[in-house]
Amino acid sequence: MRSTTVWPALLGVEKTVVERVEFDEDEEMLVAHVRPRRRSRSRCGICRRPCPGYDRGEGRRRWRALDLGLFRAFVEADAPRVSCPEHGVVVAHVPWARHDARHTLPFDDTVAWLATRTSKSTLEQLLRIAWRTVGAIVSRVVAEGAAQRDPLAGLARIGIDEISYKRGHRYITLVVDHDSGRLVWAAPGRDRKTLAKFFAALGETRCAAITHVSADAATWIADEVADKCPNAVRCADPFHIVAWATDALDEVRRETWNTARKEGLGGHARDLKHARYALWKNPEDLTEKQAAKLAWVAKVNHRLYRAYLLKEQLRQVFALKGEDGKRLLDHWLAWARRCRIPAFVHLAQRIAKHRISINASLEHRLSNGLVESTNTKVRLLTRMAFGFKSPEAMIALAMLNLGGYCPPLPGRRAAA
Ligand SMILES: [Zn+2]
Repeated sequence: MRSTTVWPALLGVEKTVVERVEFDEDEEMLVAHVRPRRRSRSRCGICRRPCPGYDRGEGRRRWRALDLGLFRAFVEADAPRVSCPEHGVVVAHVPWARHDARHTLPFDDTVAWLATRTSKSTLEQLLRIAWRTVGAIVSRVVAEGAAQRDPLAGLARIGIDEISYKRGHRYITLVVDHDSGRLVWAAPGRDRKTLAKFFAALGETRCAAITHVSADAATWIADEVADKCPNAVRCADPFHIVAWATDALDEVRRETWNTARKEGLGGHARDLKHARYALWKNPEDLTEKQAAKLAWVAKVNHRLYRAYLLKEQLRQVFALKGEDGKRLLDHWLAWARRCRIPAFVHLAQRIAKHRISINASLEHRLSNGLVESTNTKVRLLTRMAFGFKSPEAMIALAMLNLGGYCPPLPGRRAAA
């Protein structure tokens, strides 16, 4: 290999001439002076069409490349501006970086790949970049992916969900594709106007092609779906219905705990407080200690244990699905209505009110796991994305993870 080909290969730059390489001993970094090959020169940075030159822009500019050995590396080049008939005066395209980026393509892709797999602090230290920069890079990578592959093509069965972050002060509305398992759309907000943006992006023809929509029972979703997707069956998301039951159970546990405290049963109250996870988890996932806790509840507090059984049987309804599920739901409703636990009597009324969309969900067997896991993962990501400047960067991180936009590691053919 000649040195003219070694340097571009080491820096991971294509269609690029490396003029010379210098090592800055004070800064301990390597700087490669480069220029685009002739055919990549004088193109619009946005559409890449050949355009007449405009001016020299701000002169020389540096782009951070992946480290070479122990040292930081940069490519340095002129950054002239061109005049595009469509995009006006813009910085010319460079073959080694995305438009407006301050990092090379392999650097961007490595950041994106790591952002889906590792922690914030690991990424910051390993690549020596600020978390805000990660947000900008992830946004660019996702925008490029979305421009290449229409995420809204061929949608038929979708799930709509909302998650809260910043302690419930902010919301994101999410749309998942039940068939591909991907997150296909997300936007800040949770109201009809937000969801209307999704249907506007989808367009009338593709809205008419939607056959099933699963969602929680929020009326703003139901109204907007009824309006925009005339052919869709509306299904209730089992995940949210079971979450209602979990909330009702927690209410009973808190009541029981408060009563025990008021009656001066301190030790008993403490034990009840610690029973929360045993009651909350699926029985098959209980640890030995939690299972023992549950057995203790069954023995000492019949009312709370009945509430637990009500929650579990409702979960069973959605595990069974189909006609069996519907039959079990009839039994469940009859049981809950006369259980004399106000939280569950109320839950029975709420479920009866949404019976049509719950039945549709049992009949059409839409995957609950998808909505649930997307909800859980996005919630985790919102915590990781804390520190990004905009909700858009957080959404980009979610799309990168769950929308199928993560690039392979540079230099490897297939994603590992
Ligand atoms: Zn252009």
